[in-house]
Amino acid sequence: MNNEQYKIYIDKVIRRVEAARLKVSDYHIVKIVAISKYSNSQDIQKLYQIGQRAFGENKVQDLKLKIKDLDELPLEWHFVGNLQKNKINNLLDINPSLFHALDSLELANELQKKLLAKDKTLDALLQINSAKEESKYGVMPEDAKNIYEQIVTNCPNINLKGVMSIGAHSDNKEVIKKSFDTTYEIYKSLDGASICSMGMSGDFELAIECGSNMVRLGSIIFNK
Ligand SMILES: *Cc1c(COP(=O)(O)O)cnc(C)c1O
Repeated sequence: MNNEQYKIYIDKVIRRVEAARLKVSDYHIVKIVAISKYSNSQDIQKLYQIGQRAFGENKVQDLKLKIKDLDELPLEWHFVGNLQKNKINNLLDINPSLFHALDSLELANELQKKLLAKDKTLDALLQINSAKEESKYGVMPEDAKNIYEQIVTNCPNINLKGVMSIGAHSDNKEVIKKSFDTTYEIYKSLDGASICSMGMSGDFELAIECGSNMVRLGSIIFNK
């Protein structure tokens, strides 16, 4: 696509986000994080030229390469993937603006140790496996509040900002909605949480209507 076609295409996505957020309220602001994992630096540059600033990746190595490649642009980089322990140092060295997938107390403790040693802090979201799916990472909904509070207490170098969840893998809209409602309920119960990251290309309107204020859009925004 050329730049003009790209702009028309992205405008459609933004209008859909806009319509969904207005169903919640005039004051419900939703941030779009463009997930660039299927895309190259050129695609990211095109999106930057039409105003997008927040991008996300799900592999530490890819994040590192793209940040390096695009380091002249004032972009905000999110890490949305599962983090293996042996990749912690690599991730912290890139200073991501938000880590969406903190998924256990054990990982939090490991991060805390490394953050302390590096004299750094990390903004993060607790990932919730809201539909209790085998295939997904995240803490169980019934444990989420307790784990969140333990991380806040025990890991002063991690700034927990809220929660992240991936909608249930289902063709049934009610089942997906239930997974978003579960996540939103937990989010509302947390003191000081300000980010509820849920909704991807296939389900972002429903996620926003359920209270999401951060959507992670990959295929739909890059037309892949
Ligand atoms: C890939 C990915 C997305 C974006 O997925 P799309 O369906 O392409 O929008 C969002 N969140 C996470 C955690 C991802 O890995």
